[in-house]
Formats: sequence, C-alpha cells, structure tokens
Amino acid sequence: MNHQILIIGGGPAGYVAAIRSAQLGFNTALVEKRKTLGGTCSNVGCIPSKALLDSSEHYHNAVHKFKTHGIEFQNLKLNFSQMMQRKNQVVSATTKGIEFLMTKNKIKVYHGTASFLDNNTIKVVDKDSAEKKVTAEKIIIASGSEPIPLPFAPFDEKLILSSTGALDLKSIPKNLIVIGGGVIAVEMSSIFARLGCKVTVIEFTERIIGSMDKDLSKELLKSLTKLKIYFHLSTRVEHIKADKNGVEVTATSLKEDKKIKLKTEKVLVAIGRRAYTDELNLDKLKIETDKQGKIIVNSDFQTNIENIYAIGDVIEGAMLAHKASEEGNVCIERIAGQKSHLNYQSICGVVYTWPEVASVGYSEEILKEKGIEYNKGVFPFKASGRARAADEDQGFIKILSAKNNDEILGIHMIGPRVADLIAESMVAMEYKASAEDLALLPYPHPTFSEAIKEAALMATGNRAIHL
Ligand code: FAD
Repeated sequence: MNHQILIIGGGPAGYVAAIRSAQLGFNTALVEKRKTLGGTCSNVGCIPSKALLDSSEHYHNAVHKFKTHGIEFQNLKLNFSQMMQRKNQVVSATTKGIEFLMTKNKIKVYHGTASFLDNNTIKVVDKDSAEKKVTAEKIIIASGSEPIPLPFAPFDEKLILSSTGALDLKSIPKNLIVIGGGVIAVEMSSIFARLGCKVTVIEFTERIIGSMDKDLSKELLKSLTKLKIYFHLSTRVEHIKADKNGVEVTATSLKEDKKIKLKTEKVLVAIGRRAYTDELNLDKLKIETDKQGKIIVNSDFQTNIENIYAIGDVIEGAMLAHKASEEGNVCIERIAGQKSHLNYQSICGVVYTWPEVASVGYSEEILKEKGIEYNKGVFPFKASGRARAADEDQGFIKILSAKNNDEILGIHMIGPRVADLIAESMVAMEYKASAEDLALLPYPHPTFSEAIKEAALMATGNRAIHL
C-alpha cells in the first residue's frame, strides 16, 4: 500500500484529519481537486465571507455610526475592488498556510479528482487529465458540500448567483434579491446592504435563521430591517426569468395567497447546501447514502465498507466548519484506538451579522417539543454599561436551564461580539454547569460578558442586578 491513511478532500474536515493523522504517526495522504487547499470554508465560505462582513461593517460604521462618536469625514469613498482584493489576499494567506501545514507534517498531497476503483484504491486525475492510482489501508471521504440550485433556475454566476458567485462580484449590484433566509443568506444580505445595495430577502418559512431559537430570529429581523433589508416571509419563489434586462422573480405570498413579481439586477440563491459526492464512484463500492445523498456512517465515522470512513458536510449534521474539523480529529483518533469524544450538543451556531447571533444547546421551541421543563433568564444589552459605552446595545442573552436541577440546556445570544462570547457557554454546556454556577462567577467589568452573569441571575430567581 502507498499510504496508511488517505483522505479525499482538503476542507476543514479533511485537512484537520490529515494533520492529526500525521501527528499520530500514520503515513498520510490527501487528495484535493481544487487548486488550493482549505475547501469551501477557506476558499468560498467562512473566510471570504467574514473578510467582506468585516470590511462592509467598517464602511457602514464610518457612514452611519462614527458621527455619534465625534468622528466626521468628508468625501468618504468606497473602493469595492480594494475590498475584494483584500478578501482575496486573506483567502490566499489562509490556503497557503494550510499548504505549509501539509509540508510541515510531511503529508503527501495529490492535486486532482479522486474516484474509487476498489476498497483500497483510488484514481486521481489531475488538471492535465494525467491519471494516477493510489492505494491506502484506510480511506476517509471528506468531499464536503455544494450550493443547492433552484430546480427552475440553475446558477449562471452572472445573474443567478450562488454564494460563491456573490463573494466574487466585480461591482456592487444596485439591487439584489436573496432567496432563502438562513445563515448564509442573512450574512450575504448584510454585506451588500451595508454597501448601499437594495436587498430583498424572500424566505419560504415564516422566519429567518429558522434552525435557531425563535427570539433570535425576531430580534435579528428587527436589526436587519433597520439596515433597510426588505423581507418577504412565508413566500414561495416559483419562477425566475433572467435576460439582458435583468431578473424577474415571481413568487406567491403564502399568507395572503397573492402573487408578487419583483425586478432586480441579480439574484442570490441561498436555499441550502447538499452533500457533494459526484465523482467518487460510490455506487461501484455500494457505499450507502441517505435520501439526501449524505454518506451514512456509524459512531466511529465508518461507512458500510469497513476501511472507508466519512466526515464533515458529506455526512449527517450541521454543515459547519468546526463540526467538520472535530469529526476529522475524532475519526483519526478512534482509528488510532483512542477514545475521543464529540458532543454534538456542544456545537455552537454563529451568524456573523451585526449584531451577531450565537447559540448552543436546545432552543425554547425544542424544549417545549420535548416536554422538558425549564427556567429562563434573559438580560438585554440595553442594561449593560459596556454595551452603552460602545453604542452597541441591541440584543440580549437568554439562558435556559432545567427546572429539576438547574443544568444549562441552552444559551442563545444576539448582540455585540456574541460570536466570541458563545465559547464560554459551550464550555459550560460541555461540563454540565448549572445557571447558578455562572451566576456565582465574578465577570470582569465592564465587558459584554457580564450579560451572561445577569442572564444566569435571572434564570435562578429574577435577581439580575442591573434590571
Ligand atoms: P468542504 O469544505 O466543502 O471541503 C471539501 C473539499 O473536498 C473541497 O475542497 C472539494 O474540492 C474536495 N473534493 C470533493 N470531491 C473531491 C474529489 N472527488 N476528489 C478530490 N477532492 C474532492 N461554517 C462555519 O462553521 N462558520 C462559518 O462562518 C461559515 N460560513 C460559511 C459561509 C459560506 C458562504 C459557505 C458557503 C459556507 C460557510 N460555512 C461556515 C460552512 C463551511 O464552509 C462548511 O461546513 C465546511 O467547509 C465543511 O467542511 P468539509 O471539509 O466537510 O467540506
């Protein structure tokens, strides 16, 4: 055999698995069909979107918020091509960094598209169509996911964009319709709305960020509406006509049973992502997939073929980079005989709008559905001195703990820098902390984190100090 472990896909699942595998002493190889490593996350996902979210937020603040702080500009200009160039530099530095880590860890990287020939052999076809056979004792599939198009409007990345196309626009459209109200949709909408584009979101269900706690959806809707994003909720898109005159979207408002027609320069379709297994030749090996095309694995990430594993977006669960990476670590450590664990309840969801949204554990809706009795403590950032000092007082922190023993069941936040604040809640959940445990801690003052203590005080008997 050429290698002990071979990983297909160089995204957060695959490259992290490769590094951990090399650290544990396995002869390791990785196959990636993209020119650069890092997968969706580093190339066309987390990293470029956060780079543009940060840049657009700076611009938005300069236009709308600096004046309150006594900072005034004349002739403030937006240089979109510089903004995109910076984004590209961030992506390039990130993917080069991963390339370096492969070399540092002596991981053999094959650039090309992998497909299975048998249980231990894959064929790699590179960009010049040259073929190579590579064998390995164990093969891990980490081939990720791709954006789902609308069945009647395939992506052309000119008028009908996926997130990949939207992250690579050459100019800011005058107006943009975003189809979908999930995390990627609201992040992309924020970027373009902050830059002066008129954004309209059409969402099929009655709320945005539908997988998160309902109160977070409501609060985020308020703040995005303030940003002048227009929302059509409970609305089904039925037809898209795209030609040289622009795009026409036909939809039905499900509540009013009314047809609406909207004209726009471009459409971004962000209705979800699906497992990507196109070239792998899974059928030949009879590797089992579910109805959505995700590879079925057991708790050790093993497929129905003993020596073939799968991790990341290509298997069940939240399509998140940190979930993918942890599966990479755990999969390899289990192969090495270690007893590593991954608690899916501790995986946080984060939305990088402003205010940010972050959450871990059960939402109130799920607790009600499961019939679990809970206490609730909510603390608004309006009552936080730090938030007032920063002029960032939107949002709240909500702690849900079990009625019978006060164990924390979920923490949900919307507000300034909660993307970073949530990490503490993850630790609390993982170590089965009670709301009382958090209420007892001396949080540093003045920080946004004090809102956690105050919410915990509310959850344990309405005793917040600053409410
Ligand atoms: P991927 O990152 O998709 O990597 C799979 C790799 O496998 C790809 O590079 C692909 O080219 C390669 N591949 C596929 N088939 C083959 C083959 N046959 N041969 C060789 N190579 C192959 N997640 C977060 O946690 N936080 C965020 O802020 C966030 N923001 C996002 C923003 C956007 C716009 C998008 C689109 C996604 C975002 N995500 C975010 C999701 C995150 O990017 C994914 O969950 C993560 O990349 C999944 O990692 P993965 O390794 O499983 O798959």
